[in-house]
Amino acid sequence: MAVFKIEEISLKSASIKKASETFQDRNEIFKSYIKDTNLKLSSIISSDIFRSYLKDTKNIKLANSLFLDIASTSDNIMQLRYIDNTGMEIIRIDREEFSSETYLIEKEKLQNKSSRYYFKDISDTDQNVFWYSKLDLNIEQGKIEIPIKPVLRIGTPVFHNSKQAGILIINIFMKNFLYELVNTPLYDIFLFDNDGDILVDSTHSHCWNKYIEEDKTIYSHFAEEAKHIIYNTEYFGQNLYSNKISLNNGENLHMVIKPKTDYIQKEISEHLNQLIWIMIGIVLISFPISYFFSKTPIRLKEQADEQKKDQDVLLSLFDLSDAVLFKWNNDENWSVDSVSLSVDKLLGHTQNDFGTGTITYIGCIHHDDKKQVIQEVTKAIENKVYFFKHKPYRVVTKDGDIKWILDSTVIVRNANNEIINFVGYLTDISALKNSELKLQKLSRTDQLTKVSNRMHIDDVLQSQYYRFYRDNELTSIILLDIDFFKSVNDDYGHIVGDSVIIEFAKILQSSIRKGDILGRWGGEEFLIILPHTNLDQAMQLANKLQKIIFQNNFSTVKHKTASFGVSTFERGMSVETLIDSADKALYLSKENGRNCVTSTQTL
Ligand code: GH3
Ligand code: MG
Ligand code: MG
Repeated sequence: MAVFKIEEISLKSASIKKASETFQDRNEIFKSYIKDTNLKLSSIISSDIFRSYLKDTKNIKLANSLFLDIASTSDNIMQLRYIDNTGMEIIRIDREEFSSETYLIEKEKLQNKSSRYYFKDISDTDQNVFWYSKLDLNIEQGKIEIPIKPVLRIGTPVFHNSKQAGILIINIFMKNFLYELVNTPLYDIFLFDNDGDILVDSTHSHCWNKYIEEDKTIYSHFAEEAKHIIYNTEYFGQNLYSNKISLNNGENLHMVIKPKTDYIQKEISEHLNQLIWIMIGIVLISFPISYFFSKTPIRLKEQADEQKKDQDVLLSLFDLSDAVLFKWNNDENWSVDSVSLSVDKLLGHTQNDFGTGTITYIGCIHHDDKKQVIQEVTKAIENKVYFFKHKPYRVVTKDGDIKWILDSTVIVRNANNEIINFVGYLTDISALKNSELKLQKLSRTDQLTKVSNRMHIDDVLQSQYYRFYRDNELTSIILLDIDFFKSVNDDYGHIVGDSVIIEFAKILQSSIRKGDILGRWGGEEFLIILPHTNLDQAMQLANKLQKIIFQNNFSTVKHKTASFGVSTFERGMSVETLIDSADKALYLSKENGRNCVTSTQTL
């Protein structure tokens, strides 16, 4: 019974400690759920399409499709809008909850939102700063929308020619996400706002209490500990743990995590046998050792510490059973000691495949990520850490699909600090990672031509500039401008004009090497960055491109030419002077009758 008591206390504190890990995970999940939103807003602001709309409102169609594209990258977007500085909605994309489809709202249905708090707040926000709303219920025509629709709004002002032109705002669906966030088999989780009102709780019986039952707040639920929860960032209570999820608006969400009433009892009854055996083992081992060292108390304590580590591992095994749990041996191939049944869903290989050794886990890791994973394990071993998280990496499933994995690993050591095995907790984050990658690509891509946009070209030029100064790496650029392009628009209209620009991009892309970077520099101007290339080589390529274009049979316009300016990095040059010199050379090509190439040497 004494053993039982000691274990009860140690399991209790272990369960609170684990609650803090549960918080860390959930905090990360929360942040990543809304993280991409800023990126989406920035990519709209920096996109050529949106900027050309701001310049000329006739370009609304392309802007509409850009908004549709961006809204379709994440299912959590409920609304994406551009509202001009009079408060009028100009572009509005909506999505029904749980639908993957987004749709553009017709012009006639757009509304003026100048009196809404979010319009005023975002208009008062500085340029490049993101504004976050409170996490509140959606209100339609002065009433709470039923079924309830918790939303988080994130917005930023839009500037054009140094003047504020309007605001961009995204509404994110929060209901199901919040319910998932507080859903765990072993803990009751509550989310409170700054006022102590309940937003959601695991039982779903007090959600959004201020709208339904005024009297149930943090003060009625946790009378004695409410103040500690509200005023401390992190708080370890008697039988609860709390921490804050901070939003950028000074608003904090207080997450209270409380082991379910039967958690400790359940853990104890499930592990009691095991614990008793381990305790007996400790006593048996520690007697001869302690006799040998004549330091009985110290040895016992070390063994007990060791024992606690084992318990934590046992707890992880039972606590986190909804993801894939792996136990690897510390041998060359990390042979699998045991794995949870859910591995089948993740990797397509069964528990048995791993058990018989037909499949090794290391063999499932994507070839390009293996080195990273091994290095992280080696580093964790060297640093003698007990718990570490891998950077997300890829695995290849039985069907050859690629999945992104979040892998947290516990290293289990014995009393002599020798590694016995590794226990890993694996979750599939492919959906999140893929949308992040898609978004990254979107923010670097020119929407019309699908080559790099100006922002990305600027970034590449900047890094080539450092390479040139640091490693003497040569870099040349080719700037080209389509000749007499205005006449294409005048004679055939904008749509044909656009298709000629697209055709140009395709021709250029297929005529350069893999390592060269092609970008759309402006309307009908392209810039090609050529790493490891001197001026002569760049001139050769530019002359080749001039001929290919000259000889090409364009779809409607048939014949079209371009003029070229070629330049290379030299000591003392900045990115600006490099582009400036290519621009001057291009200007000379135009002066000399167009359809030709000029290098900076002739300037
Ligand atoms: P030059 O030979 O001197 O370059 O003559 P140009 O007619 O090409 O003159 P300029 O470069 O000054 O004009 C480019 C025109 O391209 C102006 C603009 O209306 C048009 N343009 C710019 N971007 C786009 C676009 O995305 N689509 C279409 N269709 N036209 C564009
Ligand atoms: Mg031009
Ligand atoms: Mg031109």
